[in-house]
Amino acid sequence: MKNKVIENLRQIVGEDWVVDELSKMQSYLYDETEPLLRPEASKDCVVVKPGSPGEISQILKYANEVLMPVAVRGGATGVCAGTIPIKPSIVLSLERLNSIVELDEKNLMITVESGVTLGSLLEFLSKNSKLFFPIHPGDEGAQIGGMVAANAGGSKAVRHGIMRNHVKALEVVLPTGEIVTLGGKLIKNNAGYDLLHMVIGSEGTLGIITKATLKLYPVNKYSGTLLVSFNNRREACDAVPEILQEGILPLAVEYMDRAAAVKTAKKLGTTWPAAEGSIDLMFVLDEHTEDELYSNSEKIVDICKKHNAVNSIIAETAKEQRNILEIRSAAYDSYKEVLADVLDTAVPPSSVPDFFDDIAALAKKYNNDIVSLGHIADGNIHNFIMGENGKIPSYYEELMVEIYKTAIKYGGTITAEHGTGKTKKKHLGIQFSEREIQIMEGIKKTFDPNGILSPGNIVD
Ligand SMILES: Cc1cc2nc3c(=O)[nH]c(=O)nc-3n(C[C@H](O)[C@H](O)[C@H](O)COP(=O)(O)OP(=O)(O)OC[C@H]3O[C@@H](n4cnc5c(N)ncnc54)[C@H](O)[C@@H]3O)c2cc1C
Repeated sequence: MKNKVIENLRQIVGEDWVVDELSKMQSYLYDETEPLLRPEASKDCVVVKPGSPGEISQILKYANEVLMPVAVRGGATGVCAGTIPIKPSIVLSLERLNSIVELDEKNLMITVESGVTLGSLLEFLSKNSKLFFPIHPGDEGAQIGGMVAANAGGSKAVRHGIMRNHVKALEVVLPTGEIVTLGGKLIKNNAGYDLLHMVIGSEGTLGIITKATLKLYPVNKYSGTLLVSFNNRREACDAVPEILQEGILPLAVEYMDRAAAVKTAKKLGTTWPAAEGSIDLMFVLDEHTEDELYSNSEKIVDICKKHNAVNSIIAETAKEQRNILEIRSAAYDSYKEVLADVLDTAVPPSSVPDFFDDIAALAKKYNNDIVSLGHIADGNIHNFIMGENGKIPSYYEELMVEIYKTAIKYGGTITAEHGTGKTKKKHLGIQFSEREIQIMEGIKKTFDPNGILSPGNIVD
């Protein structure tokens, strides 16, 4: 990296907040994207850690002047290479913007700086408020700004929706350096085009989020986890809409192939509580009263029995619940060494059983031991594609395109929550028409005329 660039950044943020030695910069070049699939990071980078929106504004104005790309980095838990600088770049880390700005219980909202991690937000709320924040994408090292930029989902979308549904306002530094506030503490707001929702999910391409105001909810006192086992995928899937139609809205409804549950439990040195059946549905319930918790649990079990469930287990104690939830959360880690990729397609919930049948046929066709788990009530299934002797299988690209096209056939999407980033960009054409992609390119150009922010993400 040119000395002049490093010197200018030092002048903006101070000597201590610029890292230009490669050995100290290594941990800032990659994220959680599968190592076999991620693009190579440029080694010609400089890391900068600004302490305020004003400093970010100066950095972006300077980057425009010298036409230097800026790679935006939150908690770096993303899995589609969104943070990886593929060109010589300024890597801009939001880690110093880590303050809780305001807990506003009257409006059921909280305002935080974008570098606050999900873990510290949850800890702050548990100590200081009766309110909670429901979006949980799995890794609590994720930052709020990263979760907004990635429009994170996670397992609680059944009841609470996704990140987009919880962002009321954002402070954003535009690629050209202006600082804007989008939205407000409003329930209704229809003025002009909705720039707030344009920035949510924009994966670091339309601006740098520096502050977010989020919606909070009262905590329910009574929670329980229900594990129901089946022998047949279709029967398990068919039970889910009937439960929702009954007016029961669990916090989460997760699907797990038994093989994944048993393998993960073993790896964690524990056991999976269910033995009968080959497929499990996990229901997390969270209710106002104990009566509601028990009557909803009973109704779920009754409906599942109608769909030939072979067993049900209610985990009531915090320890039993934690055991099941920890196994579900660790499933990805337990396969990490043998994985080629985790696909993140979604289809309309009613099409999940047919989609599963198609995936099973593709697994057979390519002789790949695909394991499935995911947020079944959202139609969002994570298919784990296995590697071959530590390598990406030769047919990987072909198989992935077949899975994407299958999802689209049902009116689905190639990515429900992980995002487009750099790894799925070339497949956007499977889901969108040329004209739609042209409009997206036009939006990018309007926000970022010199294309300096997060180049390589979503569109050029
Ligand atoms: C084990 C595991 C499980 C996961 N499970 C889920 C899941 O269930 N659901 C889900 O949705 N995701 C999941 N993820 C993916 C990831 O955790 C989420 O996408 C998360 O929201 C990313 O937040 P982050 O701060 O780590 O963002 P990063 O990885 O740092 O960045 C993500 C993108 O946002 C941009 N960005 C980051 N901060 C900002 C900012 N302040 N302003 C503008 N752009 C910014 C980056 O440039 C990048 O393009 C999982 C990841 C792991 C490792």
